[in-house]
Amino acid sequence: MSTGDEKRPEEVSGARRLFDLFLLVAVLNAAIWVLLTRGPQLLSAARLLRSGIFPCGSPITYSIGGIDQRFGLSAEELGSALAEAAAVWNRAAGREVFRAGPSGAGLAVNMVYDRRQEALDKLRGMGLKTDRSIAAYKSLKAAYDELSAGLDLRQSSLEARLAEYRKREAEYNATVARYNRRGFASPQQRRRLDSARSELESDFALIKSEEGAVNSDIDTLNAMATTINQLIVELNLDVEQYNREGSAMGVYEEGHYRVDKALPAIDIYKYSDHDQLVRLLAHELGHALGLEHVPGMESLMSPVNSGSGLVLYPDDLAELDRACTSPLLRSRRQAPPPQAPALHAPAEGPERPS
Ligand SMILES: [Zn+2]
Repeated sequence: MSTGDEKRPEEVSGARRLFDLFLLVAVLNAAIWVLLTRGPQLLSAARLLRSGIFPCGSPITYSIGGIDQRFGLSAEELGSALAEAAAVWNRAAGREVFRAGPSGAGLAVNMVYDRRQEALDKLRGMGLKTDRSIAAYKSLKAAYDELSAGLDLRQSSLEARLAEYRKREAEYNATVARYNRRGFASPQQRRRLDSARSELESDFALIKSEEGAVNSDIDTLNAMATTINQLIVELNLDVEQYNREGSAMGVYEEGHYRVDKALPAIDIYKYSDHDQLVRLLAHELGHALGLEHVPGMESLMSPVNSGSGLVLYPDDLAELDRACTSPLLRSRRQAPPPQAPALHAPAEGPERPS
């Protein structure tokens, strides 16, 4: 049975066509919106997926991201260091696996200034040896012990002086309040008050200046601890030493390759000279190419950057070969090589060697 307001077939199909059209426009709009707002990420995700299936198949574009001015490093200098680092892998792979791109494109390389480089700069400014050597470690450790011993004494003496000052300040304020309540002070009493106030003021200035000096030495001590911890790890020194002196300081990571929301990037935190920067960049580019750490201490892909030069060792080359082999082919081969040691220290603190 039909009712009076039932739609005729042509009306129904017309409404449906209108609805389909509306749906199509909505889907297209959503797609355009996603492309516009998430375009670079989608593109990057697609590239990462492709490089996962066909590793080293097409060159990875790298570029210069942000450079903190405090490094005193120009974009040209970073660009040439990057070109040298990229050439290491291009040569080894026998084809272009890295290619320079315009600023911010592809794999962005950032120079991130934090307490690691700050510590190094501060100690250098004081004329202390900070190179990666046992001699530098020993002289830094001696300077640390000396400064640390004197600092404890100075801190407790400063606290005592400040407590004494607060007592005298309270006495002075009480006297002023008493005269104010009385509403009268003799000229002699006024002179005594004036002289007490100026004495308090000059004492306070002295305490403040000593406090500034103590704080600056605490900063220096922290900078020393950070650098000492880095040296302990980089020089592969005694683990007991590390645990004894490691304290809460010292994330020793110099650089880091990361993929954030499908956008790959390299952050560099600390470098001592051009050659070391190139080596560090080459190491992080290795990670971008899919290489893991290798056990050889001198190797470029060693977890601790303790070697020198840009020569790739046999375990670097074997790891390059593994990383550049498609996982489809890799699974047909023999068992994978043993896992490299843990990656760089996590952001919250150093990994304690065990
Ligand atoms: Zn690494």
